[in-house]
Amino acid sequence: MTAAEILAIGDELVHGALLDTNSRYITRELESHGLPVRRFTVVGDDPQQLAAAMADACRRADVVVATGGLGPTLDDRTREVAAELVGAPLQFDAAAWEMVRQYLSSRRRPVPESNRRQALFPLGATVLSNPVGTAPGFRVRIDRAELFVLPGVPREMRVMLQDHVLPFVAALPGARPTAQYYLRVVGPSEALLGERIAAFMVADRNPAVGVTVSAGMITIRIVATAATAAAAAAMCAATADELRPLLGEWLLAEGLAELPELAVRRLAAAGLTLATAESCTGGLVAAALTDVAGVSAVFRGGFVTYSDASKLGELGVDAAVLADHGAVSEAVAAAMATGAANRLGARLGLSVTGIAGPDGGTPDKPVGTVCFGLAADGRARSWTLRIPDLGRDFIRQRAVVEAWAALLRLPTST
Ligand code: ATP
Repeated sequence: MTAAEILAIGDELVHGALLDTNSRYITRELESHGLPVRRFTVVGDDPQQLAAAMADACRRADVVVATGGLGPTLDDRTREVAAELVGAPLQFDAAAWEMVRQYLSSRRRPVPESNRRQALFPLGATVLSNPVGTAPGFRVRIDRAELFVLPGVPREMRVMLQDHVLPFVAALPGARPTAQYYLRVVGPSEALLGERIAAFMVADRNPAVGVTVSAGMITIRIVATAATAAAAAAMCAATADELRPLLGEWLLAEGLAELPELAVRRLAAAGLTLATAESCTGGLVAAALTDVAGVSAVFRGGFVTYSDASKLGELGVDAAVLADHGAVSEAVAAAMATGAANRLGARLGLSVTGIAGPDGGTPDKPVGTVCFGLAADGRARSWTLRIPDLGRDFIRQRAVVEAWAALLRLPTST
């Protein structure tokens, strides 16, 4: 059966300085185009190690996608190693060199001679243009595999995968496209949810249904395989239809997008603007919002008000409210949300104030007590979540999920 392998190349990856996110992305794309991925290999720049890993992958798989090690410096050895396995010399490609030169000079960057290395390819390889960076990739036959070598920079890798690899994969005989769909659930434990949807989580079901858990949010992943992408998507939709009634209030969001992106879309669709005020999450909500392209239409800004003084000074929280209720209280959360919205002229204000631990808990307000406020057009409501004390990081991440839940559950009439 036709199958692929992924090779992530770079010393930073094997030394743990950098997490290999390319392989995950490539796998999702290949599988959604009907090509199953059998193995990831992460290997450093050492030529012997790299040659062994590349040769093995090309012996086992029909398609190998490698990323990294195409840079101009001498420690980037991917092109040499591929040439050695092909049994052909490296050859200078004048057209590719022209692309590299043009890319650099159009950005008013110098064109060092060392970049000429990036126009060397194994004789017989096909050069793959890189419209968003300097390093062109290449494609070459090694053993039973078609090997695609792409740059390591994720932004460049993604464009080149779309342009050069996926059309090849889609045209492979016997490609069985897959489609995916996600249901995001907040509320039940993994075990409780597992019981509720047990009938769907059986081996060899098509669509397959699985769950992944992170900081209190559960993602139900539906994956279907069919003769066409459209048929696979329809099968996912049918399974989602069956699951929805079992999830009820737990179901927070749907689709392939992440929660911050869905929250931004939700606010934009409703024409709402938002300001945030965060204490224990220290700006995590604001940071995730600003990861989303197009957020400027809805996000006015955020305050990180960690001390009492900053809650008073930055947000105008009433000193008496703070003294009477304490910084972690629904009254203060409401005042923070209102203050943030007022100060930045936003229609919505969202606040988080809590005890992330490990210190600072009391019998009344144990570690994991987190209060939230949501002010809408001058009226604020607030609520408290008792997050299990599974560590500071867990508490903060769960609090961030609650912020997305608050935005996604806004009534549509707000
Ligand atoms: P370029 O010539 O454009 O620098 P390259 O092919 O030489 O590309 P590398 O030098 O291996 O790429 O990596 C460049 C950067 O891309 C790395 O510093 C890292 O930030 C990122 N990167 C490389 N491989 C991966 C990976 N597998 N997952 C995520 N990021 C990666």
